[in-house]
Amino acid sequence: YRRIVLASRPSAEPSPDNFRLETVDTPELQEGEILVRNEYLSLDPYMRGRMSEEKSYAAPQPLDQTMIGGTAGEVIASKNAKFAVGDKVVGALGWAETGVSDGVALRKVDIARVPLSAYLGVAGMPGMTAWYGLNQIMQPKAGETVAVSAASGAVGSVVGQLAKLKGCRVVGIAGGKEKCAYVVDELGFDACVDYKAGNLVADLAAATPNGIDAVFENVGGAGFDAALARMNAFGRIAVCGLIAGYNGEAVAVHNFSSVLTNRLTIRGFIVSEHLEFWAEGLRELAALVAGGQLKYRETIAQDLASAPDAFIGLLKGKNFGKQLVKLT
Ligand code: NDP
Repeated sequence: YRRIVLASRPSAEPSPDNFRLETVDTPELQEGEILVRNEYLSLDPYMRGRMSEEKSYAAPQPLDQTMIGGTAGEVIASKNAKFAVGDKVVGALGWAETGVSDGVALRKVDIARVPLSAYLGVAGMPGMTAWYGLNQIMQPKAGETVAVSAASGAVGSVVGQLAKLKGCRVVGIAGGKEKCAYVVDELGFDACVDYKAGNLVADLAAATPNGIDAVFENVGGAGFDAALARMNAFGRIAVCGLIAGYNGEAVAVHNFSSVLTNRLTIRGFIVSEHLEFWAEGLRELAALVAGGQLKYRETIAQDLASAPDAFIGLLKGKNFGKQLVKLT
């Protein structure tokens, strides 16, 4: 089968030659193991951090080994009583067409009402990230104003829709007219500020006439600064991601004094450290998707070989919604 390994570490923006496509033999299954044909690979911003050697919350991706990544696919052989051939499963088998699992981190999913690919997005890790940050950190009340950056993306789109279901006023920040139109017209946000239009500070102020009570921060940089300046007293900020700085860019914060003057609470989090909430959150998200209350959009690259370019594009906002690679 084919796989992609990390060939070298990028110093700034990754390039295609940081990756290498290889063909390797499928290992013979041992007792307890499951062979999975991956149908979808999830590309996620956190992978950029793993490509570097700097100290972080997780160990770096080793060189010359299959790039880490979430996958969804079908069991094609099993020596594990908990999994049968034909089961649809979600796991972390990496950038590869096939993977072997011991079953520990493999989850059977029901594709009757939620499509397989959605378990890598809205009904998977990104959805869970939105759920955790909103419910456990921001805890907005009906009528409060919530701001979300990277609003059209896998995580941001879910944050805003869940906040709307709670009766909040929801304002997104996204790059470009098309993404903003989608966020308002399709996802039902109350407003969306296009940070590429050149009037970020004034546009965010106009979209938040009553200030901002809670922020879900995915980006950092100018959008975060503009949101800090609009905070109400005792506002909450969930710091989920700082993608504007993942390729080593400086992301300065000028309005930090807002933390003091508005007595803000800022908390960063890593969703994989809160597994105790996943069963409840994923159940809720899948039910909302099945019921049509949670919409989502996907950008699907075809074939494993397209994964590096699609990933490089994700770090520049070329994706529109959850970035996936279709492998079969
Ligand atoms: P998205 O689907 O939102 O895709 C990334 C988006 O980020 C792009 O579409 C783009 O949107 C925006 N973006 C990319 N580069 C830049 C840049 N240089 N400056 C500003 N915006 C940029 O990705 P996810 O929903 O998967 O992830 C969103 C955030 O959540 C990321 O920061 C990620 O690291 C974080 N995350 C954190 C987790 C945690 O446990 N803490 C778990 C999962 C995700 P636009 O075109 O609108 O700018």
